[in-house]
Amino acid sequence: MNIILLGPPGAGKGTQAKGLQLRHGIAQISTGDMLRAEVAAGTEVGRRAKEIMDRGELVSDEIIIAMLGSRIEKPDCAHGFILDGFPRTVPQAEALDVLLEKRGTPIDAVIELRVNDEVLIERIAGRFSCAKCGASYHDTFKRPKAEGTCDVCGAHDFIRRPDDKREVVSARLVAYNNQTAPLLPYYEAQDRLRIVDGLADIEEVAGEIEAALETLPKRGVSHALTQS
Ligand code: AMP
Repeated sequence: MNIILLGPPGAGKGTQAKGLQLRHGIAQISTGDMLRAEVAAGTEVGRRAKEIMDRGELVSDEIIIAMLGSRIEKPDCAHGFILDGFPRTVPQAEALDVLLEKRGTPIDAVIELRVNDEVLIERIAGRFSCAKCGASYHDTFKRPKAEGTCDVCGAHDFIRRPDDKREVVSARLVAYNNQTAPLLPYYEAQDRLRIVDGLADIEEVAGEIEAALETLPKRGVSHALTQS
């Protein structure tokens, strides 16, 4: 199964993508994480992407499509994947359709996590994670149980994303509304889009996503019928 999670920054895509990965045994792909790894490794792509990411703008379609194209060829994608943060523009969505058509594995579901902008800024500006294991925390909603110690691995160092500063978050929301929101009608026209309330509790959102997946038209039904 191939799933796209759409939604503005801070809507909970990363959290829900991890849940989907565990429940369905498919790969989780975050183009943001891939770019941050390139930045950390000091590669040419990372150097070119860093400035753009720090401004809250989108990295070029060309770079992202090439990166995603090689990622979905990896063995862990054989049974499908969840895309978190890709596509973010109509040209990316079109390129993805072409790539998947060649593989004969089209997108099954596009889930939009819907959240309003004020909540997003509060959610994003407070988030931080463990520098060692990546466990996520929040200044207001989820502090470590023992102050300064990661609940998961016990490390004491935490990091904040440079693009989670309030002013950059506003630019990221503008990029989402101008460049990514036009994808909603694109997928609606394919009857693949389902909308889920991203404001509910994590477990509730996960349940709504599973229920939404059940409502999708099944692929290959007519083919199966002609076979029997
Ligand atoms: P994210 O972790 O998904 O919020 O992504 C962080 C940043 O990486 C974004 O603000 C963009 O600068 C860049 N980025 C991630 N995915 C894409 C994409 N599909 N297209 C363009 N830029 C991207």
